[in-house]
Amino acid sequence: MAEQGWYPAGGRIAVLTAKPIGRPLDYLAPEGGCAAGAFVEVPLGPRRVLGVVWGPGDGSFDAGRLRTVARVLDVPPMREELQQFLLRMGAYTMTSLPAMLRLATRTPGLFDAPGARKVYRLAGRDPGRMTEAREKVLEVLQGQDGLYLGELAEMAGVTPQVVKGLVKAGAVLELEEPRDLPFPRLDPDRPGKALSDDQAAAAAALRAGEGFGVTLLKGVTGSGKTEVYLEAVAECLRRGRQALVLLPEIALTTEFLARVEARFGARPGEWHSGATQSERRRLWKMVAEGGAQMVIGARSALFLPFRDLGLIVVDEEHDSSYKQEEGVIYNARDMAVLRASFCAAQVVLASATPSLETWVNAESGKYARLELKARFGVSDLPEMRAIDMREERIEPVHWISPTLVGAVQGRLMAGEQAMLFLNRRGYAPVTICRACGHQIGCDHCDARMVEHRFQNRLVCHQCGETKPIPTVCPACGVEGKLAPVGPGVERLAEEVKERFPGARVSVLSSDLFGSARALKEAIVDIAGGGADIIIGTQIVAKGHNFPRLTLVGVIDADLGLQGSDLRAAERTFQLMRQVAGRAGRAERPGVALLQTFQPEHPVIRAILGGDEEAFWRAEAEARRAAGVPPFGRMAGIILSGPEVAPLFEIGNELARRAQPLAKVGAQLFGPAPAPIARVRGRHRVRLLIKADKAAPLQPAIRAWVRRVKLPNSVRLAIDIDPQSFL
Ligand code: ADP
Ligand code: ZN
Repeated sequence: MAEQGWYPAGGRIAVLTAKPIGRPLDYLAPEGGCAAGAFVEVPLGPRRVLGVVWGPGDGSFDAGRLRTVARVLDVPPMREELQQFLLRMGAYTMTSLPAMLRLATRTPGLFDAPGARKVYRLAGRDPGRMTEAREKVLEVLQGQDGLYLGELAEMAGVTPQVVKGLVKAGAVLELEEPRDLPFPRLDPDRPGKALSDDQAAAAAALRAGEGFGVTLLKGVTGSGKTEVYLEAVAECLRRGRQALVLLPEIALTTEFLARVEARFGARPGEWHSGATQSERRRLWKMVAEGGAQMVIGARSALFLPFRDLGLIVVDEEHDSSYKQEEGVIYNARDMAVLRASFCAAQVVLASATPSLETWVNAESGKYARLELKARFGVSDLPEMRAIDMREERIEPVHWISPTLVGAVQGRLMAGEQAMLFLNRRGYAPVTICRACGHQIGCDHCDARMVEHRFQNRLVCHQCGETKPIPTVCPACGVEGKLAPVGPGVERLAEEVKERFPGARVSVLSSDLFGSARALKEAIVDIAGGGADIIIGTQIVAKGHNFPRLTLVGVIDADLGLQGSDLRAAERTFQLMRQVAGRAGRAERPGVALLQTFQPEHPVIRAILGGDEEAFWRAEAEARRAAGVPPFGRMAGIILSGPEVAPLFEIGNELARRAQPLAKVGAQLFGPAPAPIARVRGRHRVRLLIKADKAAPLQPAIRAWVRRVKLPNSVRLAIDIDPQSFL
């Protein structure tokens, strides 16, 4: 039987494995044959490895030496659409196919034979003897459906023996892995909220979309973008297709999942680093089999094997966390558009402050644009004002101006919430020696170490290295002269407690929570009125709904303007608007106050004036004039290695031999030290390429880097469309 996409037993097939071989290898189809795209196990040297049947064999192999596929796995074959996406994304980001396959199969236990794994669950019986370790295991198991031994032991911080002991004592059940069950059905026809006129118009436009297309859904925070795109999800589900909603931050999901459940009557699948291995495995399989209609996930959800993906929503599409900066370097927002183009799906890019790239695509008509003008139930954005710090009389080692203190006091008296925003984790960004001026840096990176008083350590925000706070200066040896300089949120919290002694203060900073779950709980508590003053870093800027919040004070609105980054103005603009959008989301009107030393700066003026279009037009003009993205293309080359000298040698050799780049009209800058010149003990040197938008950049880069041989200790990474540079 010679079906389309079916290889009969003994036929020659090409199998792509995740091993770094570079290309699919030829094998013989197993007894019973196999489908195109089938997941298989093949012999490779002495081992068996996972692979995907990529196509017919290319015959370049001696038939007598061909080996046969060992096993066809019991999961649906990879669809043509996903294969095409991996191919194209690999070509665009200059990533090898095996590395792309790894992205699509990074799910532990996915291919174990049924029953090969055991899961552990609470039995509800007393273990008799209780120890601290046992208690931890039982605590971790609370509210879990079943965890694997390895992950349970790790989450509880105990040895597997402790778990086994609890099984013997009858307090924990050891079960065969249950069959992965489909997710509960979502019902798109349950009544949604009654939409306002422009919400209804936007929802209708999204529902009408067919096939591939991209829409920018723009509206200030609280205007109902989520309500509107859930209507697009409903329509997608009605058509029997699957929907994916990408969110930038795990912390968003509590509130979000509840909303989806309220709308569709059941919870969607969740895909993020906090999900357990068995949850991930279930979702991966159900997405492939059609047993999951909707997935809410972080950027890597883009590589799930959807059976029929009809809609991708990228919420907060401007968020920089969509850019993956390590391993395979890619921008999930752009790759969402690419994937949608292969599966005839609609894309909705939602934001109050779109990225300039998206704004330009909407201006030029490449993307459709829908706008929600009013905030739902509230007439306007919060009132925004600058506090001119040059005129404030502020005590030394304090950061909250008298004007802002007065405003917070007013909220406290009214029983409302105030938020102070400072995008700096930790206690103080710099520790300096008052005797010699030395600043304490990381031993492995060119970064200064940040004091975290809560942990009582210095932390490198680049590599995560920590060390105790020294009492003696490592440079001059003088004792007792080390002092923190500048504020982080922990230090700001001290000032708040001193100024507002009776207030309940909550600090929201990602590093203060042991788990995503704990962070979610804190957010729910705050939304319910559990704090009077919220101090937060970047994570508070993203979508949480605090109905009692009516004042946002931005401690240092100039912070984002100081870098020499191409996107500094855009980032600051987005962040300030998002933060300001937190205030007054319910009925009570909000006020946002921005402390700044440069109230006349164009970005600060655009934020305060509310003339967003003017800001984007000016920013687009500046970029067009400079020929930089989105009007030109850029790529970064990062060389890293244990010694700095060879990196510059190779960088210079690359620069000398850049004819392939010159041929396509591209310019090369560098080599120069990368923005962070040393990370985890590895030095980094960067070259930057700038080209015309239409230049065939990837083939030119490929031909170019091939000319220079790298020593084993040196790694070369390519970053197409870099987000941060200089
Ligand atoms: P955005 O995604 O633009 O920030 P949301 O969709 O989260 O806005 O809406 C903000 C708040 O207003 C949410 O609590 C939402 O439930 C509510 N809301 C928005 N539109 C409506 C509506 N038509 N009817 C009732 N509540 C609405
Ligand atoms: Zn470091």
